[in-house]
Amino acid sequence: MQGCEKIVHIDRALSVLEPMLQACCLCPRMCKVDRNSSAGFCRQSVLPRVSSALLHFGEEPPLVKSGGSGTVFFSGCSMRCVYCQNFAISQKNNGRDISAASLSDVFLALQDDGAENINLVTPTAHLPGILRALRVSFKEGLGIPIVYNTSSYERPEIIEQLEGIVDIYLADIRYTDDDKGESYSGVRGYWTVASSAIKEMHRQVGAFKEGRHDGSRGLIIRHLVLPNGISGTEQMAEFIAYELSSSVPVSLMSQYRPVFNARHFPEISKRITDEEYKQALVQLEIYNIIGWFQHFSGFEEDRVRPIRRRG
Ligand code: SF4
Repeated sequence: MQGCEKIVHIDRALSVLEPMLQACCLCPRMCKVDRNSSAGFCRQSVLPRVSSALLHFGEEPPLVKSGGSGTVFFSGCSMRCVYCQNFAISQKNNGRDISAASLSDVFLALQDDGAENINLVTPTAHLPGILRALRVSFKEGLGIPIVYNTSSYERPEIIEQLEGIVDIYLADIRYTDDDKGESYSGVRGYWTVASSAIKEMHRQVGAFKEGRHDGSRGLIIRHLVLPNGISGTEQMAEFIAYELSSSVPVSLMSQYRPVFNARHFPEISKRITDEEYKQALVQLEIYNIIGWFQHFSGFEEDRVRPIRRRG
């Protein structure tokens, strides 16, 4: 979609999302604080807050290509994962508030540096500011795909507003059980809201397809395998196969580390085993799900390989 078409969608979305800052309901926490004068659970005020922006070469292969993914890490999070791998940004709120104009400069600089896309990491609490920045960027020639990189703890009504703006959803499935979300991420109803939000993402963009001249578009699911089956890989595979499409690719991640507060939970206070990862891979293969998996070899060239359909 051309930038000028996206501006029309942005204006529509801003008319709904910007007034929400007065009684914030941007995520399922529904804090209803006035973000102009105070911060809610996510600790964000009215301006977008950015921790870092860089060309990232560790994302999924079709997002990286030769130029890297133009990744912007936003501060804060509405989840409180006890094992958060990015806790300094998400929970300690490292970063700095910036204006929409400055954020637009960041997006355009990433494009100038060769980025294949703009990858918005944990964008939900910052959406009005991000949309204002994108509006400026599209006017000034931003033409690469927009990636929405999310925990999936999202209100489907908010995701609906992103139709026509976001090209690629990079959506985590952390658990397939609300109780696990409460125990390890401090959120109520994780799977209930995440499964609905992901269905809305899929309705908008379908399964991910790599396009020419970067018409790449669609939904990619990310799944971090946790020890002792806590992430619910088999249920996730069943959900994708039966409620989305087995053409939706899964990025099966092996890099779990028991950092931050994970040591207080014996069942997740260790890394996953090679066997647990292989079992998760088999569960995807049973449902004929494609995507990318990682090796335990530690060699960068082996880091991500395609999961192929069974013959
Ligand atoms: S975005 Fe932040 S302030 Fe708004 S509802 Fe969510 S946690 Fe609360």
